[in-house]
Amino acid sequence: MEKENTNQTSNISSALASGPDSGIDLVYYPDEVLRQHAAAVKDMDDSLRTTIERMVGLMRQARGIGLAAPQVGILERFFVVQIDSEPAQVFINPSIVGTSHETGMYEEGCLSIPGLYADVKRPTEIQVQAWNQNGRPFTLNADGMLARVILHELDHLNGVLFLDYLSERKREKLLQKYRKPQDSQQ
Ligand SMILES: [Zn+2]
Repeated sequence: MEKENTNQTSNISSALASGPDSGIDLVYYPDEVLRQHAAAVKDMDDSLRTTIERMVGLMRQARGIGLAAPQVGILERFFVVQIDSEPAQVFINPSIVGTSHETGMYEEGCLSIPGLYADVKRPTEIQVQAWNQNGRPFTLNADGMLARVILHELDHLNGVLFLDYLSERKREKLLQKYRKPQDSQQ
């Protein structure tokens, strides 16, 4: 997920996303990979940890607060989250085990859909179960921005985008402003 109201331009994000040493690149809407259902991670090994480190680097460069594997073209169930000065958190094979009845509206953006922002309604509190990068299971109660980012990133593992929560009219109107960033260094 992207921080709301950033002044980041698509030029900057595509330049940073395709750095020569990153090994991974952002995939942009309407790439089909963003619509696929990701498969469970089977091996929590060094190669996965390397990918996770690169994703955390990419997320920071792009000034994001969450990044899911399908957003870098990997159809596996994991994502990273980092809010403010908190350490990055890794969620592997996550599942939501509880959600509040209370919902809240907040403006969301997405690193894969740069420049577009819209209010999305989501539960305000969740309980999520997942594994970390060391293969240890954990259960986390989250609220506020953390809950929202986790739900946004988990949607990516199921091919769901924040645009899908908008009315058709609103979505069409928003997408009129959309320009897919060019691959600048291919
Ligand atoms: Zn997103």
